[in-house]
Amino acid sequence: MHKHHSALGLAKAHSTVLPVVRGGIDIAKRKPVDPVTLTRPHAAARAARFFVEKFQGRSMYAVKANPSPDLIQILWDNGITHYDTASIAEVRLVKSVAPEATCCFMHPVKPEEAIAEAYFTHGVRTFSLDSMEELAKIMRATRNASDLTLCVRLRVSSEHSKLSLASKFGVGPGESKELLFAARQAADALGICFHVGSQAMTPEAYAAAMERVRAAIVDAAVTVDVIDVGGGFPSSYPGMEPPPLERFFETIHRAFESLPISYSAELWAEPGRALCAEYSSVVVRVERRRGNELYINDGAYGALFDAAHLGWQFPTTLLREPESTVRDHPFSFYGPTCDDMDHMAGPFLLPADVNAGDYIEIGMLGAYGAAMRTAFNGFGCDETVIVDDEPMVSLYVPVELEMTSNVVKL
Ligand SMILES: *Cc1c(COP(=O)(O)O)cnc(C)c1O
Repeated sequence: MHKHHSALGLAKAHSTVLPVVRGGIDIAKRKPVDPVTLTRPHAAARAARFFVEKFQGRSMYAVKANPSPDLIQILWDNGITHYDTASIAEVRLVKSVAPEATCCFMHPVKPEEAIAEAYFTHGVRTFSLDSMEELAKIMRATRNASDLTLCVRLRVSSEHSKLSLASKFGVGPGESKELLFAARQAADALGICFHVGSQAMTPEAYAAAMERVRAAIVDAAVTVDVIDVGGGFPSSYPGMEPPPLERFFETIHRAFESLPISYSAELWAEPGRALCAEYSSVVVRVERRRGNELYINDGAYGALFDAAHLGWQFPTTLLREPESTVRDHPFSFYGPTCDDMDHMAGPFLLPADVNAGDYIEIGMLGAYGAAMRTAFNGFGCDETVIVDDEPMVSLYVPVELEMTSNVVKL
């Protein structure tokens, strides 16, 4: 029903550069008819450097969170050398932007042709799996290659995360022994990976998953070379302010150090959201107000899929000059299509006098926002403007700096 078409393969339309202090306000002055995506390269660069410097292991970017070629280039330029790809199109995309990048194929169920192309054409050596069938498929597709890193995906709890990834993939407790053993025989390096679910709100999620890893290693009695803690690193949204990322990193590192693995074992992570959430926001126009409902020109089939289908809240700012002095009020949004489901309950806080013709910036849409856009019902847009002001919320701006800048903190 929902056509998820991503930016994959679509040449990114002309980005204009707008070096201004307040990107959204500047756009509002131009009175665009269609929604406009604002991108903040400095915010993505800052997130990449944070992971590269502070996570005590390898950070690979999970491309599905936002497959923008511009973003991949920024991450590459700021030290992200490895990419978690889930489809052959993502592998091709990464290699076209950064030919030297290393792609790891971390989808546990892959077409055999995709594995073969990844291995023979793009030099991919790392594959994840959660079944004996997939192991056989990988060995067939790579003609029994002897240089593979095979990561067995364990099923772990998503109880601490806002978005579950616990049911589709992963071997459960008691089922991992046979697969770990078989993968050990086939692999040059054996890894164990998992995903605690997206937007994990506490480091405990990783501590608990690492206990599952420990049990699986002890049960199978195999030598493990890679521990991959997956994604799930949170960003900050209204009502979902997580503890500092450093606490997640500390918990993970401590758990890693205590596992029964060799000294040379590597620690990997696959952050998606945390690397790109602050990268973009969208400027929308209010076309109509009906009570506390605002009809805006982007929605469930555009960049607001998560707001519609997961009830996710995003920070919002009214882009009006002079600023409204009216007190904030909770609003819900309707998107532009004719579909009742094109509804975002929010609540989104905006000055109570917001009205048709006003422009609103919706923040933190860099992850799973732009990536989910469709052109359903004739409403699609890809005008992108690069700005250099701060995102509405940032996990990466030191507190002192935040106090003195004009960052709107919700
Ligand atoms: C989606 C996904 C990620 C990224 O998850 P975030 O919650 O965005 O960090 C990483 N690894 C795998 C296997 C995924 O499916």
